[in-house]
Amino acid sequence: MSSSILENEATTIEALEADPIKPMRVFDLQVSAVQQLSKHFRRITFTGSDLDLFGSNAAGETLDLRVKIMIPSPGHALPEFSNIRGSLQDDWYQSWRTLDESVRGVMRTYTVRSLRRAVPASEQSPAVPAEMDIDFVLHLDGGSGPAAEWAAGALVGDPLLLVGPCARWGDCLGIEFAPGNAERVLLVGDETAVPAIAAILETLPAHISGHAVLEVPTAADFLDISTPASVEAVWLARGSMPHGEALSAAVQSLIVPAACDVGEEPEEVDIDASILWETPAGAAGHGLYAWIAGEAATIRDLRRYLVRDVGMDRNAVAFMGYWRKGQALD
Ligand SMILES: Cc1cc2nc3c(=O)[nH]c(=O)nc-3n(C[C@H](O)[C@H](O)[C@H](O)COP(=O)(O)OP(=O)(O)OC[C@H]3O[C@@H](n4cnc5c(N)ncnc54)[C@H](O)[C@@H]3O)c2cc1C
Repeated sequence: MSSSILENEATTIEALEADPIKPMRVFDLQVSAVQQLSKHFRRITFTGSDLDLFGSNAAGETLDLRVKIMIPSPGHALPEFSNIRGSLQDDWYQSWRTLDESVRGVMRTYTVRSLRRAVPASEQSPAVPAEMDIDFVLHLDGGSGPAAEWAAGALVGDPLLLVGPCARWGDCLGIEFAPGNAERVLLVGDETAVPAIAAILETLPAHISGHAVLEVPTAADFLDISTPASVEAVWLARGSMPHGEALSAAVQSLIVPAACDVGEEPEEVDIDASILWETPAGAAGHGLYAWIAGEAATIRDLRRYLVRDVGMDRNAVAFMGYWRKGQALD
């Protein structure tokens, strides 16, 4: 290796160590691979000089860990973001919002599908850089958006700024999956939740049983998901049905209300004005834990069914109705 590369590396490491330790940081990434998984799923793999500083939980897992990505505005290489690179101060979001709208680009939320740590060079093999996969849904027919369009056109070498947890902080922010001691799980989601459900399933231990119910646009979008657990994946193709109809029917056939076990009507959430986001810290018992995510109207209806009709313990179910049909996710 030439001395100038070594000097550059030393400079980068010094610069990183000089960063104050904060829970979140901005990662400067480049696309290193693009793989069309199916008609509507496109996996983009990223590398970056500081990606090894990306956080995870104490077990090294990312589960349903969410990140923010910055999509550049047309005509601008990247959002003008230099004042908040590296470790992010608590007010980083307000700081980003003060940038001119035409240059700051748009911010969207995605899930880390997979994170592979860097492997140092050995006598047998060269060094392998850290890599992250994000699986993007290409919702290009009907209501498209900047993130889906960016993903559809992404090429190896394209830059992307990503906001995520810093490994130097310790246990990371952004993971909601918290089954506690539950031995049975119900994972429910539309296509936007498939990356999180797949990542969760890969880490579940063998003694966990249950179902993962996944609604995707077409049968050609059914993906191979591996799991050591005894969790059955139920794939549903939406086709021409309304969003969430197949998902709701499948959940209602799997979780049937007991004759005498009726819960209370959950408080109303205005899904057009706010996000339906209820995530308990952890299920208390050994029973069922449910994790349910996707389009807000579908999740609202499932919440009503599970809380009111089934009487499910609200400490044992996470509801995340995070995108809304017909509304951009600003
Ligand atoms: C915690 C979290 C994790 C997420 N993880 C992922 C992930 O791993 N992969 C992923 O693809 N998405 C994921 N999403 C959803 C993603 O953030 C939204 O789909 C987002 O709206 C996409 O941004 P956009 O710029 O493409 O569209 P926007 O500009 O936000 O929306 C434009 C239009 O497209 C519609 N739209 C948005 N998403 C879809 C969709 N999936 N299908 C059909 N119409 C849509 C909107 O209703 C709107 O009408 C996640 C969201 C959250 C909050």
